[in-house]
Amino acid sequence: MFFPLFGYGYVGLTGAEVARRILDINGLNNVQVEETNGFLSDHYDPQKKVLRLSSDVYRGNSVAANGIAAHESGHALQDKDAFGMLKLRTAIVPTVQIGSWLGPIIFMIGLFMSSTLGTQVAVVGLVFFGLTAVFSLVTLPVEFDASRRAKAILATSGMIYNQEMDGVNKVLDAAALTYVAAAIQAITTVLYYAFLLFGRRRN
Ligand SMILES: [Zn+2]
Repeated sequence: MFFPLFGYGYVGLTGAEVARRILDINGLNNVQVEETNGFLSDHYDPQKKVLRLSSDVYRGNSVAANGIAAHESGHALQDKDAFGMLKLRTAIVPTVQIGSWLGPIIFMIGLFMSSTLGTQVAVVGLVFFGLTAVFSLVTLPVEFDASRRAKAILATSGMIYNQEMDGVNKVLDAAALTYVAAAIQAITTVLYYAFLLFGRRRN
């Protein structure tokens, strides 16, 4: 079969329309869908109950736009279901934000103090900074679950053609890989700091 618009949303829905439909079907009429500036700035805000989509996704009708809109809607569904990992991630965000900039500073101060106290100070910094790695690990099940929900909804909703599911899967699997890469990088960085501290102190 030949689809003249294969690769694009044949049904023609924009990301904003896909998100709106998914939210409404699930009784989330109270969640607003807004357009936001910035590339890859798509996110769901659990505090304000707002789903913000970048212009490309909000206005676009490609399988990528539909897939990302459905993924972000998946986060709203997690919020509705009180998905534990999302609650945990939301709860640790403020601490992680402080730890990610304060941790390295405390660590460096401890490192240059070169005494037992210095080691203790550096470990405190390391723990603060280590929260970023914890955050990146907690993010994985949250993101995987949102994509799983998006795929399940798009595959059965009639919002896109079955043939387009390949494209949706590719987009969402690629996004999942970037989160895995970010987690590996965060863990590697913490391990590097730990090695810097204990490797150096032992010599
Ligand atoms: Zn996500």
